[in-house]
Amino acid sequence: AKRVYLFDQGSKDDRDLLGGKGANLCEMTKLGLPVPFGFVITTSTCREFFEAGNRLPILLEQEYRIALDLVEKKMGARFGDPENPLLFSVRSGAPVSMPGMMNTILNLGLTDEITAGLAKKTGNPRFAYDSYRRFIQMFADVVLGIEGDKFEQEISRYKQQHNKKLDTDMEAEDWQHIIKIFKELADFPQDPFIQLRMAIEAVFLSWHTPRAVVYREMNNIPDTLGTAVNVQAMVFGNFGDDSGSGVAFTRNPSTGEHEFFGEFLFNAAGEDVVAGIRTPEPIEALRERLPEVYDELHRTQVLLEQHYRDMQDIEFTVQERKFYMLQTRSGKRTGRAAIKIAVAMVNEGVISEKEALLRVSPEHVEAFMHPMIDPTAKSDIVASGLPASPGGATGVVVFSADEAVEVAAKGNKVILVRRETTPEDIHGMKVAEGILTQHGGMTSHAAVVARGMGVCAITGCSSLHIDYQKGEAVAAGGVTLRRGDVITLDGAAGEVMLGEIPKIEASSGEDFQILLSWADKHRRLKVRANAETPEEARKARELGAEGIGLCRTEHMFFEAERIDHMRAMILSESQEERTHYLDKLIKYQHEDMLELFKIMDGLPVTIRLLDPPLHEFLPNSTEEMRALAERIGKSFEKIREASENLSEVNPMLGFRGCRLSVVYPEITDMQVRAIIGAAAEAMEKGFSPFPEIMIPLVINVREIRLLADIIDRSVYQVHRDKGISIPYKIGTMMETPRACLGADRLASEVEFMSFGTNDLTQMTYGFSRDDAGRFIPEYLNKKLIENDPFVSLDQRAVGRLMEMAVKESRARKKNIKYGICGEHGGAPQAIRFCHHLGLDYVSCSPFRVPIARVAAAQANV
Ligand code: PEP
Ligand code: MG
Repeated sequence: AKRVYLFDQGSKDDRDLLGGKGANLCEMTKLGLPVPFGFVITTSTCREFFEAGNRLPILLEQEYRIALDLVEKKMGARFGDPENPLLFSVRSGAPVSMPGMMNTILNLGLTDEITAGLAKKTGNPRFAYDSYRRFIQMFADVVLGIEGDKFEQEISRYKQQHNKKLDTDMEAEDWQHIIKIFKELADFPQDPFIQLRMAIEAVFLSWHTPRAVVYREMNNIPDTLGTAVNVQAMVFGNFGDDSGSGVAFTRNPSTGEHEFFGEFLFNAAGEDVVAGIRTPEPIEALRERLPEVYDELHRTQVLLEQHYRDMQDIEFTVQERKFYMLQTRSGKRTGRAAIKIAVAMVNEGVISEKEALLRVSPEHVEAFMHPMIDPTAKSDIVASGLPASPGGATGVVVFSADEAVEVAAKGNKVILVRRETTPEDIHGMKVAEGILTQHGGMTSHAAVVARGMGVCAITGCSSLHIDYQKGEAVAAGGVTLRRGDVITLDGAAGEVMLGEIPKIEASSGEDFQILLSWADKHRRLKVRANAETPEEARKARELGAEGIGLCRTEHMFFEAERIDHMRAMILSESQEERTHYLDKLIKYQHEDMLELFKIMDGLPVTIRLLDPPLHEFLPNSTEEMRALAERIGKSFEKIREASENLSEVNPMLGFRGCRLSVVYPEITDMQVRAIIGAAAEAMEKGFSPFPEIMIPLVINVREIRLLADIIDRSVYQVHRDKGISIPYKIGTMMETPRACLGADRLASEVEFMSFGTNDLTQMTYGFSRDDAGRFIPEYLNKKLIENDPFVSLDQRAVGRLMEMAVKESRARKKNIKYGICGEHGGAPQAIRFCHHLGLDYVSCSPFRVPIARVAAAQANV
């Protein structure tokens, strides 16, 4: 097949073959824009190169020499001719934008002799020798693999010795000296054709640099794509004061404002702009000094944006007042800009609503909703962990929930630092700006609760060693964080930094609402929220949740005096005593449920029966046990004994879920009477409650029958007492492999089913949710797994169980309602999967609801 394409032989649709950069150079040539001519060597040639053991195909050189002849004709100069030299830039370009591969080589084709010729022809020796030394530097760095720093050191030394400050102080003779020194550092080919061949090989080989490999892994880019090589005639921004290089965006990439936005550096090569050695001037400087050039640039950017129908990021060069386009691509943008641009372009009639939805990534929506660490801010990262809950937070370090409350009460922002968190830390988590834990994964208590509250959190920061006694945390790098120190968390990156780091505030606004309304119009999946407190429920509704998909009732029993009644109930020694405390608990449960029904008026509220092992409610330390003994009038011994009896070797696989209802039906009865009683009261007050009672951790249909029986009886009691009839549904969670394997039988007895993918993942893998954080990083390092399955839904195995379950259930009961309420319910990739499985809804933490709405639409357009 054809291996070499001239710029007038391809188009923007040839990305796969010519790479993104090459395809766009061809497209711009086709549009008649002033693109310095050149050719592209295809990505399939790259694959050929690898297959042949890193050897270029024999005929390749002949092919590109023919192309090169044509470029020479077009440019009116010759490669390797000292009288009238043509020089090239050589750049990599993959089908998807991919930082980390080879940088550009500029001025390829210069040798001692040709540089002298160039100096003579241009009458600009300073320019010629500066170009030559730049070329040697780049060639040595990216082709010969010599450390670039060595060269920079030589330049600095020379400047010092000769009392020169800036590059612009250097004359032709100075650069000639430098070149002499450089050539001692590198064995540098004096044949332009050898230079070209070596550069092409280097571009291909750069596909496998560690940085590029890591980037591909992170972004799921196949290793097999390969890169193209762009060989383009050079133009010179460093030719003099009427030359220069610039980059520009067709709209403002940080605000999305429809304004041309760019920077320009006079008398400089493109790489000077990118490298940030000199500070570029705003594009207005070009308008003032070279107005005709500016006009052409402006016309070009308008044309490119219209043609590509997206905001473009362009690179251009001016040589002696002549304008050249070097690159165009769709521009990277902040979340705010992405949303603004997408909405504006629909209003301008450029794109459709569906296209607009695809232009906004979940990261964009997320960045939009939380304060974000300013990416340009300098920072010292002292430790890193899992990005458990996004956002940026600064505050003083505290090591306990009580301390958090105390310090926050004085008007300070606090970061709660714990080995891990438990429900007993809730009061501290509530007042914290951010939460940092040493242990725990993405579904640990800290992560789940923080996401629910919309508070920034980093979990599993195992390089931190926390000593509560001393009130300090020592990072593996040696830095010690003490109580009262100010730190900043970047929840999106999982990074802990010293001091206060500037942030970009969260925003909201009209454009966001418009985009979300389009998402609602174009999605099939419904989106609910996992919520149990009134604040969470309100937030969820405000953010567009269409009901509650999971209310974890256990979270309702941890507040102040409630926990004591809960504990007393658990520690009861007689049925009578237990009933006494259950009667107290029912009041709380009733109040809470009533609030939720009011807030979710007209929408379904899925309430899950008590799920955690009872031991989780009991105090851990001897002091706490003593204090409790005093408060509830039991002996310390009794409490300790009960705690020992309830403690389990594998609590996550233990006495929990519906197993609790099997042994303590009276707890279930209490919960159901509270739920239905509250629904009755809500109804009396004019609200429309839709309670859905959900049974956790089911393994077979007999459990469901037993529990449904308990539930129906308790409901009946309330109906009879109140003389009212509440519509309610009974459903099951799908959290055990066994439930998925027998889904049809379960389906026959319930009205809805909801995947609890946290437990389903735990049990499919046999990885404990609470402890997997200790080895998952090593599994990822050693590439034994591709992703943390608690973060990205494992479609291969867990997904297969889900697929089987849905198929079998629907075969038995065609329209059975199906949802997901594990943490994956808020992850875009899992949402897409659930859409294709044909689920009815996803349920996620309130702050992820907008992301889920967008992701559900993206899966459907
Ligand atoms: C689950 O297991 O996915 C689930 C939603 O329940 P929990 O996280 O409360 O165990
Ligand atoms: Mg569960």
